[in-house]
Amino acid sequence: MGTKLIVSMSQNLLATIFEGAKQLYPRENILFLRGKKSKDILQINELVVPPFAVHGQGFATVPLYMLPVDFSIVGTVHSHPSGNISLSNVDFNHFFGRIIMIVGFPFISKDNVAIYDSKGENLSLEITNE
Ligand SMILES: [Zn+2]
Repeated sequence: MGTKLIVSMSQNLLATIFEGAKQLYPRENILFLRGKKSKDILQINELVVPPFAVHGQGFATVPLYMLPVDFSIVGTVHSHPSGNISLSNVDFNHFFGRIIMIVGFPFISKDNVAIYDSKGENLSLEITNE
């Protein structure tokens, strides 16, 4: 069973994610999340631009076989230009790593963010000031 994971990231990192999503709007943006897990906290500390990302109107995908083996990648973040931050079946089928983070239009606050684990359960996000 265990406790649910809490995802933590800095305000700056979240702002960078929002910025990228705004730039690609109305297309979807996708980035990899690099971080470290300690106890029940998953600390995200870096964004990685995926090689050969496809930014479509439907789902932003990355051919996973082209990825380097990198165990510091803990998940992905992608944008939902519709503003709906629920996990779609397509998202679920493209699960990579431990978490999937979705940011929805208008990409402004924590209310526009949802994070799910590999079971599709909602995880909470903790924003730090650094
Ligand atoms: Zn999606």
